[in-house]
Amino acid sequence: MKIHEYQAKEILARAGIRIPEGRAARTPDEVAAAAEALGFPVVVKAQVHVGGRGKAGGVKLAASPDEAKAHGAAILGMDIKGLTVQKVYVERAADYAGELYLGVTLDRDRRRPVVMLSTVGGMDIEEVAEASPEKIARAWPNPLFGLMGFEARELCLAAGVPQAQRAAVAEIARTLYEQYFATDATLIEINPLFILRDGSIMAGDAKLDVDDNALHRQAALSALKEVSPDEQAEERARELGFSFVQLDGDVGIIGNGAGLVMGTLDAVRNAGGNAANFLDVGGGAREAVVKAALEIVLANKRVKSVLINIFGGITRGDEVAKGILAALEETRPRVPLVIRLSGTAAAEGRALLQSARLASRATMDEAAAEAVRLAKSA
Ligand code: GDP
Ligand code: MN
Repeated sequence: MKIHEYQAKEILARAGIRIPEGRAARTPDEVAAAAEALGFPVVVKAQVHVGGRGKAGGVKLAASPDEAKAHGAAILGMDIKGLTVQKVYVERAADYAGELYLGVTLDRDRRRPVVMLSTVGGMDIEEVAEASPEKIARAWPNPLFGLMGFEARELCLAAGVPQAQRAAVAEIARTLYEQYFATDATLIEINPLFILRDGSIMAGDAKLDVDDNALHRQAALSALKEVSPDEQAEERARELGFSFVQLDGDVGIIGNGAGLVMGTLDAVRNAGGNAANFLDVGGGAREAVVKAALEIVLANKRVKSVLINIFGGITRGDEVAKGILAALEETRPRVPLVIRLSGTAAAEGRALLQSARLASRATMDEAAAEAVRLAKSA
């Protein structure tokens, strides 16, 4: 589960990490009022459950109430990676000389949380990790001991944090590592961690993803759960027991079985396209399931074609076909569908689909190629 920057910052602040003064706002007038109360310059920041807001135009500096209000009006309602901005955070702007990156997440290879620190802050850390991995220093503390003082100092040294800031950054790293556990986070990140002109340190951004499986013991964090209209499909998928992950392509995917769906994503990529989601409906694929899956996939406005990939095992192909046809009676999709059916009673299933003039293909690669072609020509 994701929470907003301003909520994550409050948690950091309570743990003793310095943050700028700020207020959340829902209307341009509230933005102007908050800005006036805080004092200028301020920064107006979109609060959506996705990163890269700066690049998308969702973070803007303002020097006057009018400018703050105008930025508020522009950012509220903005679409950032498929999410509509409903709240902004207005902060006293930081006057900074440098930006660091600091984060803790699980390193599955090492089977331990990893602390990452870099002097290349403010940027997309995935890009840094790809282009110049040597610029990110890492430590894998023993979770029973926590991030020890000497380890934190070593980390700062390895990252090239200026001497004057090492002690302060080391302390923040230790706090963040503690908070990673205290909040049952899967990711906790400060990017940028500002080095202010006076040499002190302040968190410029905060990201906290909580492990869904730990929400039962994180009452305070659970209360922050917010399902925006754009995230409702994802929430619904979870309720129905589907495995669902939103991706950023335009070919909607429905399949039965996690391995099959992963294979489908590869097939789409091999055909030169990009999947819009991962959706595994699990074992069966009867009418109600297909209908729900279609609605979830089509709720994503970027979807230009849908690829349904079902392998009939215990589920018979003709039943799947009937499920799809019944679902289509009710849900009239706005984009073309391509269906790949194989396995038990696949031929009967394909015959049913053909009689309804639905595009079906015998192999996954053919179906993927067709779905990609349709998405591109849409
Ligand atoms: P993200 O793009 O979603 O990660 O949003 P961030 O909160 O990290 O903001 C993106 C960028 O906006 C930062 O890297 C800074 O360059 C800039 N920024 C954010 N807050 C401030 C601020 O208080 N003052 C100034 N001058 N720039 C800021
Ligand atoms: Mn950031």
